[in-house]
Amino acid sequence: MAVLSRCSRAATAATTRTQTATATFSCILRALSPSFCSSSALNSETDLSNKKPAVLGTLKREPTGRNVQWVFLGCPGVGKGTYASRLSNLLGVPHIATGDLVRDELASSGPLSSQVQSFLLKEIVNQGKLVSDEIIIELLSKRLEAGEAKGESGFILDGFPRTIRQAEILEGVTDIELVVNLKLREEALLAKCLGRRICSECGGNYNVACIDIKAENGRPGMYMAPLPPPPQCATKLITRADDTEEVVKERLRIYHEMTQPVEEFYRSRGKLLEFDLPGGIPESWPKLLRALNLEYHEDKQSAAA
Ligand code: ADP
Repeated sequence: MAVLSRCSRAATAATTRTQTATATFSCILRALSPSFCSSSALNSETDLSNKKPAVLGTLKREPTGRNVQWVFLGCPGVGKGTYASRLSNLLGVPHIATGDLVRDELASSGPLSSQVQSFLLKEIVNQGKLVSDEIIIELLSKRLEAGEAKGESGFILDGFPRTIRQAEILEGVTDIELVVNLKLREEALLAKCLGRRICSECGGNYNVACIDIKAENGRPGMYMAPLPPPPQCATKLITRADDTEEVVKERLRIYHEMTQPVEEFYRSRGKLLEFDLPGGIPESWPKLLRALNLEYHEDKQSAAA
């Protein structure tokens, strides 16, 4: 994988697998500013509030064939996970969601999970705040390394980068081809988060909300049907602890403050594809495939089905 091989190349002393992993991690972390690195804070918001790194000009790069290295941006509830995971199945590349990595970390007793750290991390996530870049990058590095060991190539990232600093770090270690910026009317976002249900067994994402926005003042209406679980998941549904009204509003606020600038970061590099979701999956999925020039893949899939 490009991230890892670049990092590995930079790490001349890395000769064993363990050394390579350490070098990869430290290579990515090196991109963090020294002042940030020296902070052990778990919450990134205060650390980054005074740092507005400069956008470094337009670096439009050629796409690199089918070695997909894509990013999905978008507000909480927009459907990043839904569309990123569909595309990952279609293209045969892993869908890596940093929110899932954080939740897995909290559910496991991994190396980050000293009781105090785990408690603090949970508090941050449950309040809708961002966790520190250091932790996210460590979790992401480990996930990429594990994928590389299994022979994965390419990725669709969902939930990373979420700050300008994360975007700069990623830009420094790999060549992101395309950033899809999913957009949905603000009034639907809260309802979608509150309606989200997850199967505690298979991790499948469903939604009980029925969104029916009437046409008004020249704006078209919008309908999004619920996404019901299959019978085997119906009795195992849970709600994410951070999908409460108060916390979703905070996540939306943080998105606008910390993540929206990332859109401009990629726009100025000619990598941003804006995509307004016209409604639910039946209307949006074919349009997204067209926007990505992937209709052919869907035709092939339906023909094979
Ligand atoms: P959302 O539905 O708000 O997009 P995610 O599932 O992507 O939520 O993330 C859940 C939580 O995990 C976030 O609110 C944040 O606390 C943490 N998180 C995920 N990705 C990042 C990141 N790149 N940087 C900082 N925190 C993150």
